[in-house]
Amino acid sequence: MITSLQISFPVEALKNKDMLYRCAAKTMGVPLKEISYVELRRLSLDARGRLPHYAATVEVYTRPDVFEPEDFDFSMPAIVSGSPRVVIAGMGPAGIFAALTLASAGVKPVLLERGKPVRERKRDVARIGREGVLDPDSNYSFGEGGAGCFSDGKLYTRSNKRGDVGRVLRTFVRYGAKEEILYQAHPHLGSDRMPAMIERMRESLLDAGAEIHFGVCITGIQADRQGRFCAVQDTQGREYGGDALVLATGNSASDLYRSMNRNGFLIEEKPFAMGVRVEHPQEVIDFMQYKGAEKRMSLPPAEYAFAFQCRTGGVFSFCMCPGGVVVPASTSVQGLVVNGMSDSERNSPRANAGWVTGVSRDILRQAGYRLPDTPLALLDFQQALEKRFLTPDKGFMAPAQRLTDFMNGNPSVNLPKSSYPPGIFPAAMDDYLPGFITQALREGFRQTIAKKPAFLTREAILLGLESRTSTPVRIPRDPQTWEHVRMPGLYPCGEGAGYAGGITSSAIDGINCAEKILAKWNKKSTFGLPQAGKNPLKA
Ligand SMILES: Cc1cc2nc3c(=O)[nH]c(=O)nc-3n(C[C@H](O)[C@H](O)[C@H](O)COP(=O)(O)OP(=O)(O)OC[C@H]3O[C@@H](n4cnc5c(N)ncnc54)[C@H](O)[C@@H]3O)c2cc1C
Repeated sequence: MITSLQISFPVEALKNKDMLYRCAAKTMGVPLKEISYVELRRLSLDARGRLPHYAATVEVYTRPDVFEPEDFDFSMPAIVSGSPRVVIAGMGPAGIFAALTLASAGVKPVLLERGKPVRERKRDVARIGREGVLDPDSNYSFGEGGAGCFSDGKLYTRSNKRGDVGRVLRTFVRYGAKEEILYQAHPHLGSDRMPAMIERMRESLLDAGAEIHFGVCITGIQADRQGRFCAVQDTQGREYGGDALVLATGNSASDLYRSMNRNGFLIEEKPFAMGVRVEHPQEVIDFMQYKGAEKRMSLPPAEYAFAFQCRTGGVFSFCMCPGGVVVPASTSVQGLVVNGMSDSERNSPRANAGWVTGVSRDILRQAGYRLPDTPLALLDFQQALEKRFLTPDKGFMAPAQRLTDFMNGNPSVNLPKSSYPPGIFPAAMDDYLPGFITQALREGFRQTIAKKPAFLTREAILLGLESRTSTPVRIPRDPQTWEHVRMPGLYPCGEGAGYAGGITSSAIDGINCAEKILAKWNKKSTFGLPQAGKNPLKA
């Protein structure tokens, strides 16, 4: 028999199987010897009470039944010649998962990526911090693996509303992620593991017969006489034809979205969020969350998540990187963008998180802006602010302010240390950000400090600009077919098209777009799904 249970247990029991089994037996009220296996299905650290402990959902197997691991289908048969070809623009999570799904069903993916293979990209990313040199096609957002490849890869989406999260997580495990991501409430892949995982995915695709072209930046999308997608062009005039296009170019591909708009493609504006990154010493966040228990117990670096209502809408923290660093995430020398990442060990002495508020046409109108009537108005606003944060002669150094100074309305004259590799200089955020953003941030911080006084410290800083939370445009698609409303055969996909936000949801969107395409040819992919009839106990 399998029984699903909620249990809680001390932090040490996670590494001690006997303690976990005893805890399950006690909760069920059965002798320990009757328990044949305890499978963790979901695990979260609960630090709200006096002593942090784990809360878990487990499946308990009692004798005579024994656990048999479920089998999943990861077969990738060779693609036969003459199979349909699907062009995929962008090798982020959306593009890669679309490609795996298509290839596993015998359809040939032709992947076009403006950046470089992930190993070469790693060197370019390091140069931005070390030498201040930015390659506009190979950076924290562009290149094989997409944005967030060097991010620590937090996979917080657990909702199956958009699709099968388990399928995505299992696929990551298949390509080298730790199994624990399958049950942790806050799993992360680890930046140090991601490049090798991406390379294994690439090898699988190439073995199956996919085509992959790096250094191909697409700029034009062409339709045939019937108005159906037929080919893309890149910046060097090369053309790549196919039976369908998955457009998965991410939220930083503003050059492409501008070119599409110029060429009469229907694009819509989309509200997004902007603000700053806040960096604290990790020990401050540990104390704030664990209340001193971190000194007595072995606990992971603490994190936080806050969301509040304020006069202009909402203000919230996101993309928290405990034990992490703030990184220069610009994609051009025209603007300064920051983001956060951490290694899998999360062993930096600092913690950072984005703190942002919503930006929409209505909010800007209320704040006194007169926006032109174009779908790119919010993109223009985003880029103008990114430009303001870039200071002449300072390269990618970021303006920064102590949290205490920000709350008191004083510019900072000196600053504590920061993890941000290009460096920071003292400034006043009020000189850089519009009033409606600083006002929302102050309200959010005030409410946070009321709940967690330790949050306010002279050692915390704000730096900016945090602007690439999601895309300010949407490429509309038909709700049934998922094709672009004016160009059949074009499938807007992932975060850049406005349908996802984060690694997991982008991967799910990639799978779902691929399934829509396959359905047209009466095909289906079972990649990452349970093999039928292989687990009678759970059937
Ligand atoms: C530093 C950083 C940290 C992050 N941390 C996390 C995190 O921990 N967890 C999380 O869930 N999310 C995180 N994100 C966000 C996450 O990375 C994105 O939500 C996700 O990658 C979006 O997936 P995507 O496939 O839609 O687009 P992207 O990952 O942006 O991929 C788009 C791809 O298209 C390519 N491309 C762009 N334009 C063109 C063109 N014209 N022609 C050809 N190719 C093109 C790009 O080079 C890129 O490889 C982070 C992002 C950054 C930058």
